[in-house]
Amino acid sequence: MSTATSAAAPYQAPMLIGGRLEMSTSERRGQVFNPSTGEVQAEVPLCTVGEIDKAVRAAAAALPEWAETPAVERARVMFRYREKLHAHFEELAMLVTREHGKTIAESRAEMQRGIEMVEFAAGIPSLLMGQALENLATNVDCETSRHPVGVCVGITPFNFPSMVPLWMFPVALVCGNTFILKPSEKVPLSALKLGELLIESGLPPGVFNIVHGDKVAVDALLTHPLVRAISFVGSTGVAKHVYETGTSHGKRVQAAGGAKNHLIIMPDADLDQAVKALQASAFGCAGERCMAGSIALPIGKIADDLVEGLCKVGKAMKVGPSDGNPNVDMGPLITRAHRDRVASYLDIAVTEGAEVALDGRAFDIPGNGFLLGPSVVDRVKPNTRLAKDEIFGPVLSVVRTGDLDEALAIGRSCEYGNGACIFTNSGWAAREFKRRFNAGMIGVNVGVPAPMAWFPFTGWNKSFFGDLHIQGVEGVQFYTQQKMILTRWFKTSSESHADPIWKTKAGGA
Ligand code: NAD
Repeated sequence: MSTATSAAAPYQAPMLIGGRLEMSTSERRGQVFNPSTGEVQAEVPLCTVGEIDKAVRAAAAALPEWAETPAVERARVMFRYREKLHAHFEELAMLVTREHGKTIAESRAEMQRGIEMVEFAAGIPSLLMGQALENLATNVDCETSRHPVGVCVGITPFNFPSMVPLWMFPVALVCGNTFILKPSEKVPLSALKLGELLIESGLPPGVFNIVHGDKVAVDALLTHPLVRAISFVGSTGVAKHVYETGTSHGKRVQAAGGAKNHLIIMPDADLDQAVKALQASAFGCAGERCMAGSIALPIGKIADDLVEGLCKVGKAMKVGPSDGNPNVDMGPLITRAHRDRVASYLDIAVTEGAEVALDGRAFDIPGNGFLLGPSVVDRVKPNTRLAKDEIFGPVLSVVRTGDLDEALAIGRSCEYGNGACIFTNSGWAAREFKRRFNAGMIGVNVGVPAPMAWFPFTGWNKSFFGDLHIQGVEGVQFYTQQKMILTRWFKTSSESHADPIWKTKAGGA
């Protein structure tokens, strides 16, 4: 499959259904930009309800044989897939940079995190083992076993075009399910390449399918009677809709939403380390991360030095088009509309009485794509939009606080609950923070407390809807259903069993 170019007639993204690439007949199309140039590099079909139905039926038809395939054979596909992903590593990273805009170094890091999910999935057979207790009651044995759920769906956001899909389908497939991926219509090209390599790794037709689209496609998946489980990652409003619609149609749903992540800096923190960590957290991937630090809460006198340090490192960052330029530290945002929305927060900041200490708007140069440089807003007040909204760009709000209790209270009032970090040399402060902060992923002297494949992605509050999180053992639990088997056998008095050969002593010895 050839991927996109920015020629006059944009590349048309196909669907992947039943093991074959297929063109959609939908008249509705979305545009895929190259955020580094602002050009449209491809068009993506917004699939029809009929096409969604076709993909679901392909997945349902492939299910019985795939579910019966021994788990070790399903896992072996992932061993081959891992090798393919490594062989195409640079191409995949380049695709991410070209359709998302993050730097090539950030795209490589994304690919690496995604490959770790495939490595995790290759080891899943040991997590599919059940439990057993012999002689639970006299002559009664009990065991549990894990079984696939059925046809599963993944609906993913724009900000990790490869990694977030890889959070889902490798795990679902090794657990014996079939899968339909609906990637973000802003970044469908990386997902298509992932799909192509998966088919080449020996996956039977129909086990993995890709459709495209917006609310129409998503709603058709959420309500389709043959779909059994839905994994979603995206903004909170849509996550809530996906959770409510999916569960009310009898499906299992895990839906990760948006975030506003807090970074507390105690007066005893190592300032240089904290500034470096905050820079990476707030400005890495141009702030388009659900684990990006978005609000800094310096405590006491350290605030002046922290803001000065952040402005200094922010100013020194090389901001520019990332496509074909490995030397930039920060690339463009996903679309013009999103870039302008994020930039508008610098105006909102002034109306809310805050001070723009570092203004990234100067990077908006025609022909350079959707750029916005690192921005720091100081003296933000709690309960303002800068302190509360998910901005999802390189804008760091600084709320100056008097003590840890005040910082924790601000954190507790946040409706989201993904990540929060503290920077300190005090074990006591770190312990207080770990225990009392109202979020699911906690960092001590690290800026992005994102778990790797083996641990669950434990968002709280409006950052997650559901019971079982994505990644780690919880992911395996989500994609399997358990069976409990209670067994009791009687020693019969039939003629054959009366034969002395059937005689056993108590205890079996
Ligand atoms: P989004 O919610 O706009 O889109 C996510 C998916 O939902 C896409 O596939 C999109 O096509 C679909 N969608 C959009 N609007 C819909 C609607 N009205 N009805 C049904 N489906 C719809 O999110 P995005 O802008 O692509 O991604 C950014 C968001 O994702 C941020 O809020 C970010 O915090 C969040 N995110 C969360 C995590 C996490 O683990 N919590 C990880 C990555 C991103």
